[in-house]
Amino acid sequence: MGKVAVAFAAVAVVAACSVAGVMVGRRMKSRRKWRTVVGILKELEDVCDTPVSRLRQVVDAMAVEMHAGLASEGGSKLKMLLTFVDDLPNGTEKGTYYALHLGGTYIRILRVHLGGQRSYLDVQDVERHPIPSHLMNSTSEILFNFLAFSMERFIEKEGNESSSQGVKRELAFTFSFPVKHTSISSGVLIKWTKGFEISEMVGKDIAECLQGALDRRGLDMHVAALVNDTVGALSLGYYHDPDTVAAVVFGTGSNACYLERTDAIIKCQGLLTTSGSMVVNMEWGNFWSSHLPRTSYDIDLDAESSNANDMGFEKMISGMYLGDIVRRVILRMSQESDIFGPTSSTLSEPYVLRTNSVSVMHEDDTPELQEVARILKDLGVTEVPLKVRKLVVKICDVVTRRAGRLAAAGIAGILKKIGRDGSGGITSGRSRSEITMQKRTVVAVEGGLYMNYTMFREYMEEALNEILGEEVSQYVVVKAMEDGSSIGSALLVASLQS
Ligand code: ADP
Ligand code: MG
Repeated sequence: MGKVAVAFAAVAVVAACSVAGVMVGRRMKSRRKWRTVVGILKELEDVCDTPVSRLRQVVDAMAVEMHAGLASEGGSKLKMLLTFVDDLPNGTEKGTYYALHLGGTYIRILRVHLGGQRSYLDVQDVERHPIPSHLMNSTSEILFNFLAFSMERFIEKEGNESSSQGVKRELAFTFSFPVKHTSISSGVLIKWTKGFEISEMVGKDIAECLQGALDRRGLDMHVAALVNDTVGALSLGYYHDPDTVAAVVFGTGSNACYLERTDAIIKCQGLLTTSGSMVVNMEWGNFWSSHLPRTSYDIDLDAESSNANDMGFEKMISGMYLGDIVRRVILRMSQESDIFGPTSSTLSEPYVLRTNSVSVMHEDDTPELQEVARILKDLGVTEVPLKVRKLVVKICDVVTRRAGRLAAAGIAGILKKIGRDGSGGITSGRSRSEITMQKRTVVAVEGGLYMNYTMFREYMEEALNEILGEEVSQYVVVKAMEDGSSIGSALLVASLQS
């Protein structure tokens, strides 16, 4: 070989080595990045872990807090609010009634026609509109004028057949925020939740505000009851099945109510009702316990929310927040490695990833996870390899699994408090036979998260069975109540008239 040829060969070897070196370097770098994101995922999984032993601690904490909230005003983060609902609809109601429901995301309006027998429940013209976002931090006048206007349009569309001329229409106002009631048809707003911020309304009578707005529009309607959405769901549950003892909503927010014996409501000594019981609105969104598995993402979400240090349980289990927890995990991964490419500015926007999209990604059964790719693209994250899409599905799974399982622990906590979890509960004064005999127990459940996100529902039901055990689970029925809050509120108004 001549000198030139030797030099050429040497250059070629050096070049090949450096190309290989660059490739090895890149591979090592990409492996390191992958290890970073896997580490972040692993940490998330570890902190969010909810073995049944931990869930049982949450169950106990829930039952204890319920007791404390019933014992004294301000005795617990659970407000355990009186609803003045002591009799639930039983199926004999007759007539036409209306419900207007202000939820966290939607306004619903409907009419029910009742024929005096359970089977004659006719739900008519269910209308659902998203709440225009500017209303959430407007004024009480703007908000209630909008509600009255929506009601007016509903009435205008209704033919003559459903209303008897000259008879006032009886309306239930289903309101999904905490209210301190003074009667079934009046109560003042305690605080806003779920991103609403109309501070001048706190302390105002909600039913009066609506009645005023309806009157101003000249609508011949009477706000006959102010009903928490959970109480509406309980009413519909009970109407169909008198074994229904509690109702839970998993929608934009989350809350629960249940039937309590009046003598257990210690903070209201001498409370008398004909049925001997009263529905208690727990406002469980504000539940807190050191046993709840809290991540750094939860802490940041809370700190940056409009209601920091408030509604800790709701922020872990409800539709408004699950998407944002997932977003925060993806954002951190994107910032600490470049597996998502350059960090997208969209990904930094709070609440840009909705829980609806989380369920679509989680339940994506296309072979290449095209739905995941589409949603990530909407977030400004393009060119995501399959391996990374799978990682995103896993994040959705961890966050939703924790939510479903904690939701189940909450329900089991209520069952424990009323002695329906098979353990005898922690109640005082309950007779032995009541403790030992497991009765059929129905829990009515509604809300967009529960109704539409299958994996959430399955995780919740699986965990409830795990907590209660096979034997007791046979007696506990979870019943879905579509639009239960609104329909049930109208039924409640009907039961007040009969
Ligand atoms: P509101 O809270 O206004 O009473 P809903 O009970 O219908 O209304 O709940 C709406 C919320 O439920 C949405 O904001 C969303 O968080 C959640 N949700 C609705 N559909 C889905 C879905 N397909 N997957 C996951 N979450 C959903
Ligand atoms: Mg709702």
